[in-house]
Amino acid sequence: MRRTVFCPNCGEKDILQYPNNRPVADFFCSSCDEDYELKSKGGKIGKKIVDGAYSTMIERLNSNSNPNFFMLSYDKNSQAIRNFLCVPKHFFIPKLIEMRRPLAPTARRAGWVGCNILLDNIPESGKVYFIRDGVQLQQQSVLDKWKETLFLRQEHELSGKGWLIDILLVIERIGNTEFTLDDIYGYASDLADLHPENHHIIDKIRQQLQVLRDKNYLTFVNRGVYRLINHSI
Ligand SMILES: [Zn+2]
Repeated sequence: MRRTVFCPNCGEKDILQYPNNRPVADFFCSSCDEDYELKSKGGKIGKKIVDGAYSTMIERLNSNSNPNFFMLSYDKNSQAIRNFLCVPKHFFIPKLIEMRRPLAPTARRAGWVGCNILLDNIPESGKVYFIRDGVQLQQQSVLDKWKETLFLRQEHELSGKGWLIDILLVIERIGNTEFTLDDIYGYASDLADLHPENHHIIDKIRQQLQVLRDKNYLTFVNRGVYRLINHSI
């Protein structure tokens, strides 16, 4: 495990553990100061990961102080690592966080409310695998994938970040590296449901594609046709 882990932000193997009971994160990179929280699970990673207090999580998202997440799944019998990935902190928006039911009155921490992280709401570009289905990926491809979406950090408003992430999810659903504006418009009503406050969905979609082009995530091939740069779907 120690040999596998490097910091996806800077590539150094200087990831150290925080002293116990630090509420913010489990690990940090002593080269670039990125924070990491580790969640591990026997068997499949599944669709959700149980995390800590709901209110703390939402507070951290609102203050941009949430850590990156390492997620690890291992084979229950052999203990071999099946999947190890990092979800960069800039992919965390409130719709990823599901509130759990408060603990029963009989519980020691009665009324405490935890949360789940909903992995289905994270686009593939936000799942930076080190090991996928037992196969280790090249370090350079991990670092490259991390860099591709760092522009999301410049989006300080959660709503702005949420829009960009929704567009990334739509592009994934289309499933081609080249697609048209009409392909995206096919999801306009889904996007309108997700953003009821916005009454100019079509304009917003075009504006978001412009942002993704400015950030070198995609390129305009010709009128109404787009292509992803450096991404496979
Ligand atoms: Zn680092």
